[in-house]
Amino acid sequence: FVLPDFQEFTGELAAIFERCRANTEGRVANCIPQLARADPTRWGAAVCTVDGQRAGFGDHQVPFCLQSVSKPLNYALAMTEAGSDRVHQFVGYEPSGISFNSIALNSENKPHNPMINSGAIAVCSLLARGQRLADRFDYVLRQYLRMSAGERLGFSNSTFLSERESSDRNYAIGYYMRENGCFPPDTDLRETLDFYLQLCALEATCDSAAVIAATLANGGVCPLTGDPVLSAEAVRDTLSLMHSCGLYDYSGQFAFKCGLPAKSGVSGAILLVIPGLMGIALWSPPLDRQGNSCRGIQFCRELVARFSLHNFDST
Ligand code: GLN
Repeated sequence: FVLPDFQEFTGELAAIFERCRANTEGRVANCIPQLARADPTRWGAAVCTVDGQRAGFGDHQVPFCLQSVSKPLNYALAMTEAGSDRVHQFVGYEPSGISFNSIALNSENKPHNPMINSGAIAVCSLLARGQRLADRFDYVLRQYLRMSAGERLGFSNSTFLSERESSDRNYAIGYYMRENGCFPPDTDLRETLDFYLQLCALEATCDSAAVIAATLANGGVCPLTGDPVLSAEAVRDTLSLMHSCGLYDYSGQFAFKCGLPAKSGVSGAILLVIPGLMGIALWSPPLDRQGNSCRGIQFCRELVARFSLHNFDST
């Protein structure tokens, strides 16, 4: 696949984008009021290629919470910082086959993978370990900003506060993990859960998230700045897990139908990576039964069909 003409390509994307806008299926997440209030008509998309060409559609400049889209980024950071052996001492790399917020561990008593809550909480216990929580937060935000070439990121304190208030399930997961020795010694569980929820409450726009996706598509080097934020190995492993585990209980079907690494979040965000080519960010709050953005999934499927982008397409 080569992009013969970026203008022509974005013209086709615009047509797909408009077809998806007509999709009024799905329901906005209602787990917390901040998400339940989301406007179901919101629909944005942005593209950034590995050579820095950009395009944005619809609400591409409107901020949204990353939610679970933060999971692969945190994993990639931890892998870059601490290395694979250390990280995988605490988390597996196999699809779980059960819901993202299940209270369950694999046969080695580790979370199944870093794309579900338990695994993401384990990853958060490792990130910038040994520093104060405030410094760990600043550190992660700085790394995200390096991935986005300094473009628009934010933090929704109300989302963090209201999630923390209603996060019984994540607390239950955390206690169950601690009971099973899933954390490094001397892990402060409350702090780890706060950190996890704070990173879920980070905000991006489709524009800035597309640059982050393009950094993943580009082996960890931000295409706009040339900054090597993530190690190539960390990015490879992150993309592998996005491919097998990125879309909740739709992951296997998405891998089959689209054949690309992606990660979704309960805010209706999807980060889609076309390795070596481009990053795409999609955002629309109405979710399907598996918890993925209806418009976002339609966009991915139409894109792959139109441009033969499936990993195993041979033409
Ligand atoms: N903060 C949410 C949670 O922990 C993230 C879930 C998601 O986006 N799937 O439940």
